[in-house]
Amino acid sequence: MSLKHSVYRTVSRALRAAGTDGAPPPGLRVLLYHSVGTAAGPDPFGTVMAPALFGAHVAALAALRAELPPAPFAAPADAAPRLAVTFDDGYRDTLTAAAPLLAAHGIPFTVFVPPEHLDAAGSLYLDKAALRELACVPGASIGAHGARHVPLTRLDDAELEAEMAASRKRLEDALGRPVDSMSYPFGLVDRRVAAAAAAAGFTLAGTSVYGTNLPGADPLLLRRTEAVAWDTPDDLRLKLFGHWDWFRLRQSEARR
Ligand SMILES: [Zn+2]
Repeated sequence: MSLKHSVYRTVSRALRAAGTDGAPPPGLRVLLYHSVGTAAGPDPFGTVMAPALFGAHVAALAALRAELPPAPFAAPADAAPRLAVTFDDGYRDTLTAAAPLLAAHGIPFTVFVPPEHLDAAGSLYLDKAALRELACVPGASIGAHGARHVPLTRLDDAELEAEMAASRKRLEDALGRPVDSMSYPFGLVDRRVAAAAAAAGFTLAGTSVYGTNLPGADPLLLRRTEAVAWDTPDDLRLKLFGHWDWFRLRQSEARR
């Protein structure tokens, strides 16, 4: 864990110490995970969570079901506290390690996949067959994550349009079903990128900005709260109860 993260965590723990857990904040909280497995090398952003820890997270989510019912990734129709689970990047371990646990607890989840990863045969990522298998897991849905996993804000208008269209078409071709949701690679999005997502036919998109989503939130700019490799179940609870939401004030820098 980086020194910075350690400081942020201390701040969040102190915020709770100043108050109480109370009730979960209103609105839909969308959790963002990446890989569940063993990091092949240094993991400075904490994107690879140990399977045992992920299992503890799922158990914590299941235990909170009464206060924070699991919900699909969708625009919230009301302000009731709810929880959605998402994964970025389409790691193979989303299918092998994460999906079975979530399905066993009846927790729906959405996986955002850049289709270029599907072609990286023998890699860390889902190939087409594995993607189709994942799409058949009860509660699973699949969205795009750019076509090539490049920072969308840095593309010119023509490149952006092509990237959005390719991400949607290639996934739809692979799955044989419509794909209408996406998340922004590195969390990089601005008004132009969100408009391009809408123009390409996406109706839902996730950012990497911490917080919950209330009715009336822009469905193409839904906030997501990232869970990282060193988040204990208690740290996860801090995030679910809003004690990390101050962190979005620090989120102007580029993210994964
Ligand atoms: Zn990504």
